[in-house]
Amino acid sequence: MADFDAVVVGAGCAGSVAAYVLAREGKSVLMIERGSDAGAKNMTGGRLYAHALRAVFPGFESEAPLERKIVRERVSLITEDESTTVEFASPRLGEDEAASYSVLRGPFDRWLASKAEDAGAECIYGIAVEDLVWNGGRIVGVRAGEDEITADVTILADGVNSLLSEKAKLAKRPAPHQLAVSAKEVVELPEQTVTDRFQANPGEGAAWLFAGAATHGHVGGGFLYTNRSSVSIGVVATLSDLCTSSTPVYQMLEDFKNHPAVAPVLAGGRTVEYSGHLIPEGGFDMVPQMCCDGCLLTGDAAMLCINLGYQVRGMDYAIAAGRMAAEAALEALDAGDVSAARLATYRAKLEDSFVLKDLAAYRGFPAFMEGTPRIFDGYPQMAADIMRGLFTVDGSPVRPLKGTVMGPVKGMGVLNLLKDARKGMKVL
Ligand SMILES: Cc1cc2nc3c(=O)[nH]c(=O)nc-3n(C[C@H](O)[C@H](O)[C@H](O)COP(=O)(O)OP(=O)(O)OC[C@H]3O[C@@H](n4cnc5c(N)ncnc54)[C@H](O)[C@@H]3O)c2cc1C
Repeated sequence: MADFDAVVVGAGCAGSVAAYVLAREGKSVLMIERGSDAGAKNMTGGRLYAHALRAVFPGFESEAPLERKIVRERVSLITEDESTTVEFASPRLGEDEAASYSVLRGPFDRWLASKAEDAGAECIYGIAVEDLVWNGGRIVGVRAGEDEITADVTILADGVNSLLSEKAKLAKRPAPHQLAVSAKEVVELPEQTVTDRFQANPGEGAAWLFAGAATHGHVGGGFLYTNRSSVSIGVVATLSDLCTSSTPVYQMLEDFKNHPAVAPVLAGGRTVEYSGHLIPEGGFDMVPQMCCDGCLLTGDAAMLCINLGYQVRGMDYAIAAGRMAAEAALEALDAGDVSAARLATYRAKLEDSFVLKDLAAYRGFPAFMEGTPRIFDGYPQMAADIMRGLFTVDGSPVRPLKGTVMGPVKGMGVLNLLKDARKGMKVL
């Protein structure tokens, strides 16, 4: 007999939710996390689309450590010292299923793991799982140091750099163009200052995404999210494209913080957290096989993440996929059959849900971003040139509006614009 019904590796969004759902249904569960605490090693930009969390914890707003409800969206194209910004503010962004919140992973992940513990899951921190235990072709547990822990089902929720998914022969090492690297700081500011700087109501805040000079014109972007009494700021750059950059990511972040659109927001603040992390950005085509005999793969370990430039999602997918992995495991445990064929209901659940439907819908988007460098090194300048032309009044004779707009457009190439727009329409 196995030590546990299920062992879950990783106490991130996916792992804690999987452990919670299994424990809530009375299964014996062990969750193993290499960090000293849940969230100690985890990073996100900062915005949680809450619908997936609500499906597991209907009353989460009253107890989860949420920072601010996001009701203001900004997207900026930036050059070295100029910015063109689209802003959308709406109370409807904060309503019901559409609500989203900024979060800090330290407190948020600790809360999520505590829900699993309260439901009866056993949790061990500060221990890295190094290997899997096999019985013939079936995975029957994990090995950490000298210890071997057996379980009927093993759920791998060990994040984007999942060495265990390779050992399980489920996934291959991602290619550099499928991964992005990020650097992030949390900058502390008085709560009222954050509220004032974003013209927010108390408890409400903004998400702000950037393309262009944030990554020195390379594929990727910058982000800024308002927390209760801090802002999360960072840059994300595709690994393969970064190879052609003479500027490392940490320097990109430093330059981004000094950009005229950003520096006033951070003025007087104090950096209290600095982190770096990988993001799986290859989309649907990067999703590996998700189960084998005795084992399931979930969250970032299954590459369930999307970066659309104006929207970054991974936490809601991790929460939903963690829940579905646990549900598939429950059905298999109850049937006394944890074969790959029985566990395959997990993939079917994901395909039937927004998780794989979304990834499939944006399947062509990663290649579009990678193959359209003008988004990052051309269009921000074109937008700034048009805007400068429109808004500059310096006593020299005015140019006709058509010339003001068409000059920069012609500089970029009308055909290029049409080509990119056509490509973009196809994949979005
Ligand atoms: C810069 C950045 C910005 C992002 N912005 C957003 C955003 O705004 N909104 C959004 O929804 N998503 C965003 N994402 C994506 C999101 O953060 C991830 O998709 C999500 O955190 C995945 O959760 P997870 O539980 O699968 O993995 P993780 O949160 O990475 O958790 C994996 C856990 O496994 C543990 N672990 C790893 N290996 C082992 C081992 N061998 N033994 C034991 N434990 C192990 C780790 O320590 C970690 O705790 C962003 C990501 C980054 C990096």
